[in-house]
Amino acid sequence: ASVVGIDLGNLSSKIGVARHRGIDIIVNEVSNRATPSLISFTARQRHIGEAAKTAETSNFKNTVGSLKRLIGRSPSDPEIEEYEKKYINAQLVDVNGSAGVKVNYLGEPTEFSYTQLVAAYLGKLRDTASSELKQAVSDVVIAVPGWYTDIQRRAMLDAANIAGLNPLRLINDTTAVALGYGITKADLPESADEPRHVVFVDVGHSNYSVSVVAFSKGQLTVKSTAYDRHFGGRDFDYALVQHFAKEFNAKYKIDVLSSPKAVFRLATGCERLKKVLSANAEAPINVESLMNDIDASSSLKRDEFEKLTDHLLTRVNNPLAEALEKAGLTKEQVDAVELVGGSTRIPAIKERIQAFFDGKTLSTTLNQDEAIARGATFACASLSPVFRVREFAVHDVASYPIKVQWEKEAGNPDEDTELTVFPQNNPIPSTKILTFYRQGPFELEAQYAEPSQLPKGTNPWLGKFTIKNVEKPASGDLACVKVKARLNLHGIVNFESAYIVEEVEKEEIVTTGEGEDKVEEKKLVKKIQRKGDCSTVGQYSGLVKNVVDDLTEKEGKMHSEDKLVMETEDRKNALEEYVYEMRGKLEDRYSAYVQSQEKSDLLSGLQEAEDWLYSEEGEDATKSAYVSKLDALKTKGDPIVLRWKESEERPKAAASCREIL
Ligand code: ATP
Ligand code: MG
Repeated sequence: ASVVGIDLGNLSSKIGVARHRGIDIIVNEVSNRATPSLISFTARQRHIGEAAKTAETSNFKNTVGSLKRLIGRSPSDPEIEEYEKKYINAQLVDVNGSAGVKVNYLGEPTEFSYTQLVAAYLGKLRDTASSELKQAVSDVVIAVPGWYTDIQRRAMLDAANIAGLNPLRLINDTTAVALGYGITKADLPESADEPRHVVFVDVGHSNYSVSVVAFSKGQLTVKSTAYDRHFGGRDFDYALVQHFAKEFNAKYKIDVLSSPKAVFRLATGCERLKKVLSANAEAPINVESLMNDIDASSSLKRDEFEKLTDHLLTRVNNPLAEALEKAGLTKEQVDAVELVGGSTRIPAIKERIQAFFDGKTLSTTLNQDEAIARGATFACASLSPVFRVREFAVHDVASYPIKVQWEKEAGNPDEDTELTVFPQNNPIPSTKILTFYRQGPFELEAQYAEPSQLPKGTNPWLGKFTIKNVEKPASGDLACVKVKARLNLHGIVNFESAYIVEEVEKEEIVTTGEGEDKVEEKKLVKKIQRKGDCSTVGQYSGLVKNVVDDLTEKEGKMHSEDKLVMETEDRKNALEEYVYEMRGKLEDRYSAYVQSQEKSDLLSGLQEAEDWLYSEEGEDATKSAYVSKLDALKTKGDPIVLRWKESEERPKAAASCREIL
């Protein structure tokens, strides 16, 4: 089995793998350590990752990003309208109640839910990892924002399953960072009573997370978290787009904002400018044929940038203050502040964070871009039987309080009808046993207790549990039913089982006194005894098994179609290459090793293949057609190549004989 950790970023994703010498962040097919989180649909195939980024400019309406933002969201969610739409070029649709897109795929308008899109994307990361590890990849740990709700987490697990992965854990982004930090620090305090307090700050492309974590030898405890869920690099890019759209309107008389394609081009230029401004006091922007064939250019100074984004920069303090307050710590009690995420490179953001901590030096002892993926990989290694890793306990907490509700038992008028079973900051994982007195079957419902804390539009409903075959016991009027509720390692809640207990009287030997006064006595003692399990039915927000199976099959089919398109392309290129290379070499390298009849025969074969390649049929043929054409040419060409090779090797062989003599 393999050990893989994934940081699914909104802009780009990183993959870590564990090997015997340690954890590596791996590169993709074009040797990049980060893979664009994009899927592009075309008339022929899907492009995922790098290829989607390449296709984006010409196919931006069918190229889909924001994967991690939209998975598990409902299409009517007000936040989609308010925050997400301006970053999405594809058409948003409702796919069976969850957010999805309608794109042109294989010449047809086709709908995909974001669960399917994330599955396709995870499939690509799986392929990247498995080609690096040279083995099938199944076990993974995927990092998700700490503010992900139960619905988003279940959707992510569904997506992983559809991609044929086995998610051992969904780990919160900043907890993954903290784990990577803790496991590599040899100087953590011995005592858990005087821990080291570290504040982790992650400002990425779309999201800003803060967590306060207490470290001591061999363990970490998340004390608090706070977020600005709509704060990241893309908001800075957006502010720049607005600025330059206005400037170019005056300068070139073009209305960039009226053309999604022009906005896309300008946004690309703005991101580049923003990055240059992180290291320079001024930066240029040049966008070729931005609109109406106009090449637009301008520049911006860093202080102007900071003025333009002041409405964003003033928000930097909020999550920091909230996290400290929730953790009950003062700024002075913070031992270190660690920055990760691409947007913490913006000098103004760094300055604000530093000013918040009264000038404390900020640390970047972690790899800013890869810390989450590394931490997720550590988590995978510690859950997997394959590697022995140093024990490091991770005490994470739930972001939102969860309550359980039920209907009052008729025979028990004083009974409450709800209980906050997992309060905010409840440890993850955690199991609670609930006790009910009932005379028949009953139902429980789990809900988020504070819907106002959730992403706007989130349905607070989490699940329903029906407990059947409960009967009045012979002894009394109500049966005592115990229900096991679990907040699991992924941060999702499940009712696991229900059973009936009974009080029985048992004869037991009870010892009193000591030494000479010791008395043993037989007594009747009341004991709680498990009597039997109830049959139960649970209903949650995730996809049901046959839907997952169906989507898995669909994804598998699209994956193999994409693979076939790629292999066909590859074989076509191989045939084309052979035609040109052989033709050239017949004139020089092989000329002395070929008879004239043989040569003209092969040349006409090559010509025929070339004509065919450029014919309508050869332009778009099957893989096997390209393979058999190439094989036929090779049957003629190989003997010539062989003759040349032999003559090349003969003098070499002779030379090495001489050396031995
Ligand atoms: P998220 O965490 O929101 O899911 P992500 O993990 O994909 O997104 P990161 O890779 O952490 O995001 O950061 C990407 C963001 O950082 C982009 O907006 C990018 O423009 C920005 N960024 C990267 N380098 C710099 C830089 N030198 N200066 C300013 N911004 C930068
Ligand atoms: Mg990130």
